[in-house]
Amino acid sequence: MKAKIISVGDELLIGKTVNTNLTLISKELRSIGIEVNSASSVKDQEEAIFKTLKNSDESLVIFTGGLGPTRDDITKETVCKYYNLDLELNHETLTRIKNFFAKQNREMKDTNKKQAYFPKNAIVLSNNYGTAPGAIIQVDGKTVVMLPGPPSELIPMFRFVKDYLIERSDTTIYQSGYLVAGIGESEMESKMDCVYEKHPEVQIAPYADIASIQYIFTSSNSKALERALDHFRKLFSEYIVGPYDKTLETRVVETLMAQNKTISFAESCTGGLLAAYLVNVPNVSKVFNESYVLYSNGSKIKQLGINQMIIDKFGAVSKQCVYELAYQLAQRTDTDIVLSVSGIAGPSGGTAVKPVGTVYFGLHHEGKTKTYSKIFAGDRNLIRKKATIYGLYLVLKALLHEDHHS
Ligand code: ATP
Ligand code: MG
Repeated sequence: MKAKIISVGDELLIGKTVNTNLTLISKELRSIGIEVNSASSVKDQEEAIFKTLKNSDESLVIFTGGLGPTRDDITKETVCKYYNLDLELNHETLTRIKNFFAKQNREMKDTNKKQAYFPKNAIVLSNNYGTAPGAIIQVDGKTVVMLPGPPSELIPMFRFVKDYLIERSDTTIYQSGYLVAGIGESEMESKMDCVYEKHPEVQIAPYADIASIQYIFTSSNSKALERALDHFRKLFSEYIVGPYDKTLETRVVETLMAQNKTISFAESCTGGLLAAYLVNVPNVSKVFNESYVLYSNGSKIKQLGINQMIIDKFGAVSKQCVYELAYQLAQRTDTDIVLSVSGIAGPSGGTAVKPVGTVYFGLHHEGKTKTYSKIFAGDRNLIRKKATIYGLYLVLKALLHEDHHS
């Protein structure tokens, strides 16, 4: 089955909105063996939508956007006009929309009523996070799916669409994979050639994020998939941090919970990002003690008693300083693992010996304090984010006793 994705919305064409729905849907379709053949972004305009539909010979067409209550939201009406489908009031949907407003003590506006109209045989996709319901219709030998624009509404709805497509597919697609960190994408890819070559029946797709990469493996042959995964694991165990569909911070929190341990941070250049990443994970309060943002030299001395001499002699961005930060915080708190970070995020402050992007990490765990260093490329914020991810990677590997770096 081949698919076309049509993103509707003026905002996509004036540089206001990044089309994240397209990347999300493409990735999800690929994971179930559906190839996205083409994609287009069009204005909220009947003529533009007609033209794109005329040029679609794919058997699956997915629309996003333009299902809102306002006059400029015309996707559903236009698609139905194109296929000569009459719209009928769907009473159940109308009640759902009314209830959505009632829950927030608001009255439904008349304009919202149009959102409850659908063609007779449509499968209506209810929206628990907004007013615009989506729909799946079978028409002209095609499956046409319509989803709202806001990602927070589209993502939960797309899960239903995915299940619907899997149920109707005649081949079973198996999917698995890993999340890797602590290694750059190009270095990883240069080592991946033998895996790609040896497993032609398996599609392997890397999706790189700031400082981690998801490797997603799909195949219709489950044995071939297992073989490819084994091969990958053997080569990259050092960098694998978990399954592809879990974030690094989730893995850190899970591992701390399983080991009944707590964590604290002393952050300089990350300025609280380590804490911010960790608190993304629900129930983190069971394992997260505290994070000190000790940005100035004075605060490092005052709060954790770092010796002024260390800063004078080696600098705040040094192996010696992060060692002391981690060690001193571990002495002052009842925490099982402590991570400290200090680096030069730039754009200024770099030297020949310590260029912009140099970051030191101190890790206190099981009575020992170790230090690590890395040089990250990028602008200020990227360096800070990369340092955060790398720090979490060091924590996870230490907890799992797979700590080979220094
Ligand atoms: P609403 O009820 O919110 O009006 P809608 O289905 O009409 O829903 P749109 O009006 O097209 O959706 O878009 C609403 C918002 O959703 C946009 O302002 C934008 O922030 C976001 N959005 C729309 N399309 C996309 C897209 N393709 N990728 C990412 N975000 C999008
Ligand atoms: Mg809208």
